[in-house]
Amino acid sequence: MSSNDPIQLSVVIPVYNEEGNLPTLFSRLYPVLDALGRSYEVIFTNDGSADRSSVLLAEQHAARPDVTRVIEFNANYGQHMAVMAALERVRGEVVVTLDADLQNPPEEIPVLLEKTDAGFDCVGGVRQARQDSMFRRYVSKFINFVRGRMTSIRMTDQGCMLRAYSRNVVDGIVRSGAVNTFIPALAYNLARRPTEVPVKHEERHAGTSNYSLYSLIRLNFDLITYFTTAPLQIFTIVSMLCSAGSLLLVVVLGVRRIVHGSDADGVFTLFAILFFLISVCMVGIGLIGEYMGRTYQVVRNRARYHVSHILEVKP
Ligand code: UDP
Ligand code: MG
Repeated sequence: MSSNDPIQLSVVIPVYNEEGNLPTLFSRLYPVLDALGRSYEVIFTNDGSADRSSVLLAEQHAARPDVTRVIEFNANYGQHMAVMAALERVRGEVVVTLDADLQNPPEEIPVLLEKTDAGFDCVGGVRQARQDSMFRRYVSKFINFVRGRMTSIRMTDQGCMLRAYSRNVVDGIVRSGAVNTFIPALAYNLARRPTEVPVKHEERHAGTSNYSLYSLIRLNFDLITYFTTAPLQIFTIVSMLCSAGSLLLVVVLGVRRIVHGSDADGVFTLFAILFFLISVCMVGIGLIGEYMGRTYQVVRNRARYHVSHILEVKP
């Protein structure tokens, strides 16, 4: 684990197949940090990249061993676990997270630090003129809305990973031992004085997003289910309403049968109602499964990720 003498700033960057971006990232990031006049370290977590990222990170470590640390995972565990592994090892009083693809310009780091210097312990970037596909932007808006409704987390732009946290918040994140989580939201819950600042957003420098539609859906499920059980409660309420409606229907049909005798009319309406009720049940089972799966993961207490090796100079 880390040493006790603190440095001022830790920059945490998850890396997954970013060989096309790393050289530019290095050439833009380090000058910004050198110009800050603060002691700093950069921690890269290589999240099981299959390209030359690992080699490039090792080269950078060799070039700037004093300020560069590289955590190598044996496999791909996802962006948030990559950040988590770095948070567990940071030495900085303030921690900034950043994407490796240069969508978050490193030049914006000082903007965040102004806020932490002013005493805010959780600073969220809000992407201005977001450079993502229209689809991503709309989905993101929708999820922001759902999250806003279901949890007590108030964030304008949850998906922006350009963020700064005080040491105290980072310690809380690490102690939480969270498995499937969304670090910005977790941090927000632990902060005493959260704030937000507008930051620039650029197009992905090279390569394509590592998030498929599937992993985006998973991630957003993590976000909602980790922080609230509201979906379960909403489901229970909807199911109760459905049961009440069905009961009413049974009564109406029963009375009709007694008054008019049996009839085959309206069989399709009945089917429609039945299908609807079955689909409600299926959604419910799926939902319970989501929560159960997560409970199971926590209960069996398996390591969240495996570090194969770390490149660092021990202080
Ligand atoms: N990333 C990671 N592990 C993954 C997926 C992504 O460490 O399984 C990193 C990636 O290298 C980048 C950041 O997380 O630094 C954000 O990923 P990406 O740019 O693909 O996501 P998007 O910007 O499309 O949300
Ligand atoms: Mg990106």
